[in-house]
Amino acid sequence: MSEQRSKADNISWQGFSTKAVHAGYEPDPLTGAVNVPIYASSTFAQDGVGGMRSGFEYARTGNPTRRPLEANLAALESGTYGRAFSSGMAATDCLLRSVLRPGDHLVIPDDAYGGTFRLIDKVFTQWGIEYTPAPVSDVDAVRAAMKSNTKLVWVETPTNPLLNIGDIELLAEVAHEGNAKIVVDNTFASPYLQQPLQLGADIALHSTTKYIGGHSDVVGGALVCNDEELDTAFAFLQNGSGGVPGPFDAFLTLRGIKTLALRMERHSDNAEKVVELLDGHPAVASVIYPGLASHPSHKVAAKQMRRFGGMISVRLKGGKAAALDLCSRTEIFTLAESLGGVESLIEFPGAMTHASTAGSALEVPDDLVRLSVGIEDASDLVGDIEQALS
Ligand SMILES: *Cc1c(COP(=O)(O)O)cnc(C)c1O
Repeated sequence: MSEQRSKADNISWQGFSTKAVHAGYEPDPLTGAVNVPIYASSTFAQDGVGGMRSGFEYARTGNPTRRPLEANLAALESGTYGRAFSSGMAATDCLLRSVLRPGDHLVIPDDAYGGTFRLIDKVFTQWGIEYTPAPVSDVDAVRAAMKSNTKLVWVETPTNPLLNIGDIELLAEVAHEGNAKIVVDNTFASPYLQQPLQLGADIALHSTTKYIGGHSDVVGGALVCNDEELDTAFAFLQNGSGGVPGPFDAFLTLRGIKTLALRMERHSDNAEKVVELLDGHPAVASVIYPGLASHPSHKVAAKQMRRFGGMISVRLKGGKAAALDLCSRTEIFTLAESLGGVESLIEFPGAMTHASTAGSALEVPDDLVRLSVGIEDASDLVGDIEQALS
């Protein structure tokens, strides 16, 4: 494919911050409230049987705090339809059950998020779904993993925790050639840094718990697409099995979104400073960050992402003992699972987020430490890692 014809050259980032602050909500006509009220109501009065006043009847089906969040999420991903869920895994479950039927096959990243892998491997296989792991960074390997019954290509980019990069545009072509849908788990990049639907993906999926919410104070998930039929299927299961966020969760997520652009810039600035310290540090075997020219897919990342985000993985020369030591010695970086919040976190994927992959093809190296670089002062963060490694 020639450079000129690449969709990545034509990504529109225009108006992102304006959409983040405004999309999906106008000041309430009755009160003028500039923020979406928390509509703590499970049911809505009807004017006569079937006479809904403003499209709401029961809050599992729809809630006036959740609805603006869904419209906002769709706008952030440059998509038409947005659906919010009670967690990223609830969104994943809804997607898998909407797209796959017994006898179908999907391709998953060989270093997929542990929870995604666990759900597919432990639950969906019991319902007659098969899967093949393939590296997202290798388009030919993904093509080779596809079968006549492949209905879905699951992409994470950057992957968690190895920060591998998949070329979304090429992977979308491969999926579509095989009549499969392609979903991109866009959690690590956030829509501020990466726009999967503009690159040809069918669905963008999020754990909004991470960068979108951004404050480690709410769990949530999202599905965004441009296909009405797909959205209808999502809406059916969202209501049918009820993995929905409550109004306070929807409010917190919307509140977080307003500063998403500012936060992602700062996360990226700070991560670059931490990478500078780690790259070439005597205790470090390798630094994995898509913004480094030494990253094997740096060019693809630079083509499809506007910056490289706040996640860094690092492998230590001293192996597992050194990795555990680093995790125990940081003072500002808090030892915790999760990522994407304003505060910096450190974790040991082998025994924490990715413990469920032990012994499988998706097992992560035991000298690996993952950093979620927050928005604190860069000098404090660099100093903290420096003292913890010394
Ligand atoms: C956290 C995470 C999920 C799952 O989301 P929850 O909100 O924890 O259910 C899925 N994908 C990725 C990449 C994640 O980091």
